[in-house]
Amino acid sequence: MTLPRGALPAGTGTTTSPGELILVVEDNDKNRKLVRDVLTFKGYEIIEAETGEEGVRLAQERHPSLVLMDIRLPGIDGIEALGRLRAEPGTRGIPIMAMTASVMTADRQRITDAGFDAYQSKPIKVKDFVVAVERLLDHPRK
Ligand code: MN
Repeated sequence: MTLPRGALPAGTGTTTSPGELILVVEDNDKNRKLVRDVLTFKGYEIIEAETGEEGVRLAQERHPSLVLMDIRLPGIDGIEALGRLRAEPGTRGIPIMAMTASVMTADRQRITDAGFDAYQSKPIKVKDFVVAVERLLDHPRK
């Protein structure tokens, strides 16, 4: 992918260290590729899962600094995966951002109530997405 000039914020003035590990849980190849390309371009290391179960397993093994979680997934959904990560001391502190195409108010409320740290609607707006990622990395969960 070639990002258009100005597609990404230049200096955002954050203290995020390059190379931080981010786990992307997303079953859609195109969406996963876009997120991977944007975040790799920004200097992050990306690991990917196509199901919630795989995402939970990878998070437990690799302890990423951030998880980007699709909601509609084959097998357990993103909300169930969030619950499993929050139930384990080893993964409880990892910030998790929901990513969903859903614009239904009821769904959005359900996502908020589930306890995600942030919410991004798809298709992502690249600049907003990067800012949201950096914000979560700068202000990890207590
Ligand atoms: Mn999906």
